[in-house]
Amino acid sequence: MHDFRVLELEDALGGTARGGELPRSRHPLGAHYLPRPEPRFHALERLLEDLGVIIGRDPAGRAEYAPSTIVAASVERHQLDRIWYAGISPEHGATPAEQAEAERWYAHLRALDREGPDGRRQFTLPSWRASAALRELDAISMRDYLQRLGVTSWRLRWEIDYACRDDYGCTLEQTSAYAALHHFLARGYDEDRPRPLLAWPDGNAELTRRMAARLGYIAAAPVDPHARVRTRAAVVSIDPDRGALRAVLRGEDPEDPGELVELSARAILWAAPRFVLPYVLTARGRDPLAGHRGPAMSYSPWLVASVELLDRPGGIGSPLAWDNVPVQRDNLGYVVATHGEDRSDTRPGAVVTYYEPLTAETPAVATRRAELLAGDLSRWSDHVVRQLAAMHPGIERQVTRVSVTRWGHAMIRPVPGLLFGDALARARAPIGVVRPCATDVTGLALFEQAFYSGVEAAEEALARLGRGAASMIP
Ligand SMILES: Cc1cc2nc3c(=O)[nH]c(=O)nc-3n(C[C@H](O)[C@H](O)[C@H](O)COP(=O)(O)OP(=O)(O)OC[C@H]3O[C@@H](n4cnc5c(N)ncnc54)[C@H](O)[C@@H]3O)c2cc1C
Repeated sequence: MHDFRVLELEDALGGTARGGELPRSRHPLGAHYLPRPEPRFHALERLLEDLGVIIGRDPAGRAEYAPSTIVAASVERHQLDRIWYAGISPEHGATPAEQAEAERWYAHLRALDREGPDGRRQFTLPSWRASAALRELDAISMRDYLQRLGVTSWRLRWEIDYACRDDYGCTLEQTSAYAALHHFLARGYDEDRPRPLLAWPDGNAELTRRMAARLGYIAAAPVDPHARVRTRAAVVSIDPDRGALRAVLRGEDPEDPGELVELSARAILWAAPRFVLPYVLTARGRDPLAGHRGPAMSYSPWLVASVELLDRPGGIGSPLAWDNVPVQRDNLGYVVATHGEDRSDTRPGAVVTYYEPLTAETPAVATRRAELLAGDLSRWSDHVVRQLAAMHPGIERQVTRVSVTRWGHAMIRPVPGLLFGDALARARAPIGVVRPCATDVTGLALFEQAFYSGVEAAEEALARLGRGAASMIP
């Protein structure tokens, strides 16, 4: 199917998986890694094959990845009482009781890592294809679930809270137990944590760049109004019954007011945030979410900043890893954009990308968003440098540049009741020829969820156009 258009509001493709560039290195603005998929995720493996990330298969059919895409040794370290330790579990100084609790937790995860009575895995990707067996765990928070299990160790609670903040921008209290367990089990329980990760200097921007290249998009080329992929194209209205779509196309001049164009489509995949859709629908009353009462879709704000340094960060204890996480802080630490550089690359310095979700309960999250967007950029860059200096005293003298990104609606929050409740079912439902399919309507802001949601919506559209084929998603 070649007769389609991609319209993107921003100057660059990629949304929350876009990248930026400082003189020393490219860096992520948001999404920064993809766990290496399990072989059972066939469609995702096919995408990675298509994009040249999987470069071959061994005689048993196992995928071989381009070496530069796999995060090299020393994937993560954590800082506890000023000392860095390998891995993400703050085990140093754990009492025998705490160690026993950790063992019980791992045994619990192992026991959940199986199929339900309906023959489907209890946790998988995409989440909506999992067994129905444990869906009731979506109704309670992870904090309540841990209480039920008798997990009291601060170490374990911190590690699980960190996982929820890292994946969803939510704390244990704000994340549903199902969503939290999904983090540990959707790709299968991993005895050898961390599982291999795929990452690039500017994170998942590399994936979106390769996808765009497959569509013949060249970022630096002059704007062509007839191109199949068009950036600086704001979709401003959609008539869902006629498939009439209006967009304002802007040129490169920031003063250019743009040109209003009308397109006609037999199917429209709405891969933009769901909360924008009501503003562009000509018939707002047709939105199934309009009269909905129940847990609403809410979004976590995130602060991300890439910092250029004269030297690589050090620290006492375990050496610099790709992901470097301080224990019991509001921020999640930083990933190193320059981590995968070839050993023959002797340029000094590094670029690190700092992450901080602004967590809060549902009504208060709006206040945190306003706080993030209101302050000026220098206030936020000072904040980031202070947080880095708390991990590495004196690092402020190494900083040459800071690039701050503020995401007001970074990630959908999988609060209790959202994943399998009525709101998401309504959010995903087609409206005339329009099918919402961005990651937010899946309830989990993950590359894999967005990918499967897009594939499913595209397959539905093809079927509607009489071009359907066997589904790629079992
Ligand atoms: C800080 C951060 C860190 C993350 N880290 C990871 C990670 O490490 N791994 C991972 O798997 N996932 C991560 N994610 C989530 C991941 O980025 C997304 O799940 C994934 O990229 C899919 O997003 P999407 O394309 O569905 O939606 P979005 O990224 O929200 O893209 C929507 C697009 O719609 C465009 N748009 C909006 N309105 C209009 C309009 N009117 N007309 C035209 N276009 C419009 C926007 O400009 C945007 O480009 C992270 C997200 C954030 C914010």
